[in-house]
Amino acid sequence: MTVSSLARPEPPLERYAEAKLPTPHGLFQLRVYREPATGLEHVALFHGTLTGAEDVLVRVHSECLTGEVLHSLRCDCREQLELALERVGAAECGVVLYLRQEGRGIGLGNKVRAYALQDEGMDTVDANRALGFPDDARDYAIAAHMLRDLGVQSVRLLTNNPDKVTGLQRLGVRVNERLPHTVPSHELNRGYMDAKRVRMGHDFPTDL
Ligand SMILES: [Zn+2]
Repeated sequence: MTVSSLARPEPPLERYAEAKLPTPHGLFQLRVYREPATGLEHVALFHGTLTGAEDVLVRVHSECLTGEVLHSLRCDCREQLELALERVGAAECGVVLYLRQEGRGIGLGNKVRAYALQDEGMDTVDANRALGFPDDARDYAIAAHMLRDLGVQSVRLLTNNPDKVTGLQRLGVRVNERLPHTVPSHELNRGYMDAKRVRMGHDFPTDL
C-alpha cells in the first residue's frame, strides 16, 4: 500500500457515466455509479429536479436476473420494477435505484442453489439459512450514498418491506413515508410471497 492510498482512501462509490434514457414510462436520466473496490456498477434512473427536493418518490430495487431478464415466475421482482418505473415516471420527480445485489445479496449462483433447496420443500428463508447465508444480505449503504449524491433531502419510499425503511434510516436517509408497492401474486410465486410476508415481515395483503 502506498502512502498516498493511505492518505486518500477510495470513495465507496463514484459517478462513472450518465446519459438520457427514453423508456415507455418517460424520459429518464440514467447515471451509473461504480464501486471502485469491487467494480460493481449500480444505476440511478431519475427525472425532475432532485437537488434539495423533499418527499421524493423513490424505489430501491435489487437486481434479479431470473425474474427481470428470464421472466421467472418464482418471484415478483420484474413486476415490482415495472410498477416502480411506472409510478416514478408518472410523478413530478423521482428515482429508481437499481442495485447490483442479486439474490438478496448472496449472488446469482447461490440464489439458484437456494432455489434447488426450495424445490425440495424449503421456503426462501430456510433455504438461505441452510446455505449459511442470512435471510437478507442486502446492504443499503450504496443506496443512501446515491440519494445523497442526487441531492435528495427526504423520500417517500415505494416498498412493502419495513426493514428497508429502517435500514435506510439508519444510514441517514429521511424516509417521510412508506408507500405500499404491491403487485398481484399468482400460483407459482404464492409460497415465496407468503414467506416474505410471514417470515420476513413484508407488509401486504394476503388476498392478492
Ligand atoms: Zn426475483
